Amino acid sequence: MFFWKTHRIIVTIVNTTNTTATGNKITIAPMSTAAHRFETLALHAGQSVDNTLSRGVPVYRTASYLFKNTEHASNLFALKELGNIYTRLMNPTTEVLEARMSELEGGAASVAVASGTAAIFNTIITLAEAGDNIVASRNLYGGTYTQFDAILPKLGITVTFVDPFKPEEFEQAINERTRALYIETISNPTLNYTPISAIADVAHRNGLPLVVDATFTTPFLLRPIEHGADIVINSLTKWIGGHGSAIGGCITDAGTFNWAKGRHPLFTEPDANYHGLRWALDLPEPLAPIAFALRVRTVPLRNIGACISPDNAWIFIQGLETLPLRMTRHSENAMLVARHLQKHPEVAWVRYPGLEGDPSYPAASKDLNNGFGGMVVFGAKGGYDTAIKIIDTIKIFSHVANVGDAKSLILHPASTSHSQMTEEQQRASGLSRELIRLSIGLEHPLDLIEALDRALKNS
Ligand SMILES: *Cc1c(COP(=O)(O)O)cnc(C)c1O
Repeated sequence: MFFWKTHRIIVTIVNTTNTTATGNKITIAPMSTAAHRFETLALHAGQSVDNTLSRGVPVYRTASYLFKNTEHASNLFALKELGNIYTRLMNPTTEVLEARMSELEGGAASVAVASGTAAIFNTIITLAEAGDNIVASRNLYGGTYTQFDAILPKLGITVTFVDPFKPEEFEQAINERTRALYIETISNPTLNYTPISAIADVAHRNGLPLVVDATFTTPFLLRPIEHGADIVINSLTKWIGGHGSAIGGCITDAGTFNWAKGRHPLFTEPDANYHGLRWALDLPEPLAPIAFALRVRTVPLRNIGACISPDNAWIFIQGLETLPLRMTRHSENAMLVARHLQKHPEVAWVRYPGLEGDPSYPAASKDLNNGFGGMVVFGAKGGYDTAIKIIDTIKIFSHVANVGDAKSLILHPASTSHSQMTEEQQRASGLSRELIRLSIGLEHPLDLIEALDRALKNS
């Protein structure tokens, strides 16, 4: 089964492969879940119970799907009918994850892929080709920064980095080959919240889409599309999976961007990747609004191949079911830890978007619902050497390069995740040498506070 949610309508294209089927049936039904709230959607959206009556979402562990006959097969390949061909492109378990993510983000269609990193790369190469430009925030996840700074330029795509708090810098950096603007909600590791609507205004004034990496907030805290984002990226690996047990990413298309305005030749020129299709001009309703998501699926996902496994898709569906509960507790625990560190005599500074004096607080408290997330960063008065000692001696916190686990995690980004950056680049993105990054888990908050106190005392 294939779900394309467009605007307020779900298009269910039922592709049955059992022999009693008379062919593909297309039903257009009102959005059944529109009235439901986040917690309910997190448990139910996107699943329609199949003929085994399984209550849990089944894992369809298959590489390929039967064609009913040669006509059916050729129709599927020509996009005349939508249906399952091969798991690199689509899978019924993954479709539940994608439909649920679309509902939770308030988007029109989603594509789940192998990792957050693949989600970012697939997004960029769907929008831009050699000679094109992206204007991006300078405060980015380390892997994203390297992809933009060192890999995309080798493919001929330039990235101009600007200050996310100066929308005018985005405006000034845009040239006639710019294809998108790119920001993170709460940036890693500086924990600055970028007000989305200000950058979305710049993007839309210039006929460009805004891409937002919303990994640190998840749709439970913030739905970027409501603030003007056109494309939302989530690393599912983090809080959505929630247990540090699988890698995955998701791209959600708001379904509202007009690709036909002349700024995106990849959408208006015949595409050699797909029968000469002009994505912004030739797609039938109701597929036209999700031209971007369709191109992600049929061009990079199909031909570069960073697909998610159905088993991992299932893990992320499990994660989504408890996301509201976990994000609430992550946020509560992080707030308690941040407040404690703020008062600590050995701590020089603390950043948490939920602290009233934090530079991000005014905008974050306006845009975020349900909490400020699970990340806290701080610097000890002892500086770099103390930071290293804290990490080497602290209990409970696991020293790993991950965030968003149910367990608390600790990292020194300057010497690990962001070590590809020069000291100057680190400073420009607000990353100081002594910064310690905490991903606050679901342990009892007093145990976390005591562990931090002991490590600070001994370092
Ligand atoms: C982890 C992360 C990514 C990359 O996701 P992976 O699933 O690890 O590839 C991208 N952006 C942010 C903000 C992240 O935290």
